Amino acid sequence: MRIDVVSIFPDYLSPLDLSLIGKARQDGLLDVHVHDLRDFTHDRHRTVDDTPYGGGAGMVMKPQPWAEALEHVAAQADPPTTKRPRLVVPGPGGAPFTQALARELAAEPWLAFACGRYEGIDERVYEFAREDLGVDVSVVSLGDYVLNGGEVAVLAIVEAVARLVPGVIGNAESLVEESHEDGLLEYPIYTKPREWRGRSVPEVLLSGNHAAIAQWRHEQRLARTAARRPDLLHPSSVGQDVDVATAV
Ligand code: SAM
Repeated sequence: MRIDVVSIFPDYLSPLDLSLIGKARQDGLLDVHVHDLRDFTHDRHRTVDDTPYGGGAGMVMKPQPWAEALEHVAAQADPPTTKRPRLVVPGPGGAPFTQALARELAAEPWLAFACGRYEGIDERVYEFAREDLGVDVSVVSLGDYVLNGGEVAVLAIVEAVARLVPGVIGNAESLVEESHEDGLLEYPIYTKPREWRGRSVPEVLLSGNHAAIAQWRHEQRLARTAARRPDLLHPSSVGQDVDVATAV
């Protein structure tokens, strides 16, 4: 998968060199390119923002540097083809970022990210990207709160997406039972020692009875989801015999 990120703070994206993402880059599974938006300005001060039409607080990112930066990214198809990246623009007014969207994005061969700052990007840039560059644009929100810029959101989105790209996580089975894969949260997990500071591992996990362990884990997933995220529960899973009080 190819990933392009445009930002006025390219150094903010340096964690993409670390850990599993860094290794995936070294292994050739991810081809990451970070671009400085200011490289696409033409004035002495490398200006990327201006005051908002209609008044109001804050500054708005100018369309011209964004247009040139996105044109530059779109021209990177190798070999040159009509292929276009899918453009993801983080924003608090976007569609919520979910595991389902992460899976959808993980199936794309090429993603581009536009990191907003200040009050965000001039609205015409979205139209330009769709109409003039022919790219699919998705505005994606990390959650119902406001960050200072899109970079942290891009780090989160890229990490969630990249781990779903085949080969990035060594043991693909570990992805299957994770929280949000099927709408439920993960069951409680334990490791050695069996007794620790007066606390024991649940007996069923030591039983060797795989069916009983699977049943216990399923019940724990339902109970935990009901306790922490009742909004995730589907009518089909509600009504099962769940001890919500013990699920924390
Ligand atoms: N004026 C914007 C609004 O009210 O919707 C907020 C702009 S915010 C200060 C600056 C940038 O941070 C946004 O352009 C976006 O890139 C990023 N950002 C802020 N909150 C975000 C969120 N919840 N999810 C994704 N990106 C976010």
